[in-house]
Amino acid sequence: MEETRTTAIVLAAGQGKRMQSSVHKQYLLIKGKPVLYYSLKAFEESIIDDIVLVVGEGEEDFCRKEILDKYGFRKIRAVVCGGKERYHSVAYGIRTINWKCEYIFIHDGARPFIDHEIIKRAFAAVKQFKACVVGMPVKDTIKIADEKGFVANTPDRSLIWQIQTPQVFKRQLIAAAYEKLLAEEKDLLAEGVKVTDDAMVVEYFMSVPVKLVQGSYQNIKITTPEDLKIAEIFV
Ligand code: C5P
Repeated sequence: MEETRTTAIVLAAGQGKRMQSSVHKQYLLIKGKPVLYYSLKAFEESIIDDIVLVVGEGEEDFCRKEILDKYGFRKIRAVVCGGKERYHSVAYGIRTINWKCEYIFIHDGARPFIDHEIIKRAFAAVKQFKACVVGMPVKDTIKIADEKGFVANTPDRSLIWQIQTPQVFKRQLIAAAYEKLLAEEKDLLAEGVKVTDDAMVVEYFMSVPVKLVQGSYQNIKITTPEDLKIAEIFV
């Protein structure tokens, strides 16, 4: 049987402005280890074959020393510099892959609690559907607001999911979608489109439906100082 190769792109090039810390959030410590360590370890011990780590400009050497060498990660095949927006970082990560790879897992390095079950569920779904995103049904009622800060309407809660990562795609599909995005970036910006995840890029440019896969309520993104306190409890 033909072997299926998978690469994870782990994003750690964000500035983390909402964390109000001089240290970028992916390097803050949870029980003595950097936030970024936990997702890399989960991928290292999973079915993933290779990892591309995308870091901030000038942080490549720091990362190699303080993360790769220190914790002995062996699957990290490239450490590359990210871009201004998350979608630039993803696009640069995808362009870096010059090895055999059929499926790409894109993951926020700021989500330390990805686990093996999530990785397995997403892998099974992507093999069947070509594109999937991990998320969870919302627990709260969601309101759409108008520009003046009043409720415009209340969508049916049973159809709303909060989206997490990993977001997983067939390589050709996501590579083509991101190349289209970069080619049309100026027009999209002019239209006011804000690209906040990878599924959006596929929804916008490709005619492949994206499957929703169950993540976990623990798979939080470390964004503000209180998230770090919650993370300590989860670890
Ligand atoms: O900013 P946000 O919380 O949406 O970032 C999600 C993930 O994307 C984080 O892991 C962050 O490090 C990464 N990111 C990136 N390059 C950017 C912006 C965010 O790799 N330009």
